Amino acid sequence: MHDTSEAVTTMVITLSSPPQTPRIPTQRACPHRPPCPSATAPDHDAARCVASHPEQGWSLLCNGVVCFEDTGELLPDGRTVAPHRPTDSAAR
Ligand SMILES: [Zn+2]
Repeated sequence: MHDTSEAVTTMVITLSSPPQTPRIPTQRACPHRPPCPSATAPDHDAARCVASHPEQGWSLLCNGVVCFEDTGELLPDGRTVAPHRPTDSAAR
């Protein structure tokens, strides 16, 4: 009879133990080849789009950068990039 309770106790201890390798979900490895530029790279907006929500006006890039339809960006570290429409730099 004692075998069952011991097995349950062992299972509870196993489940309550913290994982050995905590993972940060926003820092996934890039599966693309060639790899996408990182969020801190100057050309970070060239990363592949992994989630698009045009009805909400934003899309998520592979490197964790969120691009808004007004060309503004939200970086993974919380910084924001002001909208930089291509038409602004092209008008010269
Ligand atoms: Zn990628």
